Amino acid sequence: MTQKITVIRGDGIGPEIMDATLHVLDQLGAGLEYEFADAGVVALEKHGDLMPKETLDSIARNKVALKSPLSTPIGGGFTSINVSLRRHFDLYANVRPAISFPNTRSRYENIDLVTVRENTEGAYLAEGQEVSADGQTAISCTRITRKGSERIVRYAFELARSTGRKKVTAVHKANIIKSTSGLFLNVAREVAAQYPDIEFQEMIVDNACMQLVMRPEQFDVIVTTNLFGDIISDLCAGLVGGLGLAPGANIGEHAAIFEAVHGTAPDIAGKGVANPCALLLAAAQMLDHIGQPQNAERLRKAIVATMAAKDSLTGDLGGTGTTMGFAKAIASRL
Ligand code: ATP
Repeated sequence: MTQKITVIRGDGIGPEIMDATLHVLDQLGAGLEYEFADAGVVALEKHGDLMPKETLDSIARNKVALKSPLSTPIGGGFTSINVSLRRHFDLYANVRPAISFPNTRSRYENIDLVTVRENTEGAYLAEGQEVSADGQTAISCTRITRKGSERIVRYAFELARSTGRKKVTAVHKANIIKSTSGLFLNVAREVAAQYPDIEFQEMIVDNACMQLVMRPEQFDVIVTTNLFGDIISDLCAGLVGGLGLAPGANIGEHAAIFEAVHGTAPDIAGKGVANPCALLLAAAQMLDHIGQPQNAERLRKAIVATMAAKDSLTGDLGGTGTTMGFAKAIASRL
């Protein structure tokens, strides 16, 4: 049986890493059918719209999208396309695994953790941002809801249970930001009580940053609010060797979008030297999501084996390989 997914080739290095990723997926034999849809600057040029309705319809129909990075033109009143997509489909869970790979420039070799970031509320609300007429005072509003906190913490515990993970750490700042962070922590405690099989830990965000750098192996699943999750998941990407290896999933009840965490990398776009691994690892998350965990594991193992052999590595990993050369080396190990 084939599964149709929406594929957005994106801007900058997007088309290069997507071609490489689709090459590997084809070799994997996962039975995927691709429905290509435009978004970003490419779509603006072709259709006069950064996010055409056909693209939204395609994602709504297929419920799963694999997306390359998109650029939002600076100025002109454009809001970030990534943020708009998350809002449009209510993709409340941003799931970012950080796993050690061989032969990276990382300081650690034993990291295997997942950050689950709340994606729709918290400090990233568009409304409630205000700068006074004299430019002297700026206000921003943070909103946390019981519903939003509950569904993200529950998502983290369910993820832990279904993937054999043992511990969930709720990261907060409830000692100082008693209202919003306090509500999140209270709800986290209530939800944790319903999962006696999973260890629950609470950690204040500043301490969590230090602990992540000093002893990252103590973490398993981290769940936190929008702003803290944004920062902590990048910190975790740095712990395992950088953006070229950092995938992310945006998951809602009716749709899910899988992507590389990095941007369009305009400095290397069109040169065929970008590392395709972040998007490939996002594709592995997608395979887990659509019920193909064996294929997801085969893909991850092929990436590990290729990196261990230092075969065709791209420049960011210290090699001289090309995007497609690296993808072919991975595909040959499936
Ligand atoms: P954007 O405006 O789209 O966010 P950016 O250049 O500000 O683009 P990134 O695209 O995340 O931010 O790139 C940051 C740095 O990391 C750049 O030097 C880029 O070349 C590098 N980089 C990002 N992704 C990759 C990749 N897949 N392979 C190799 N280098 C990468």
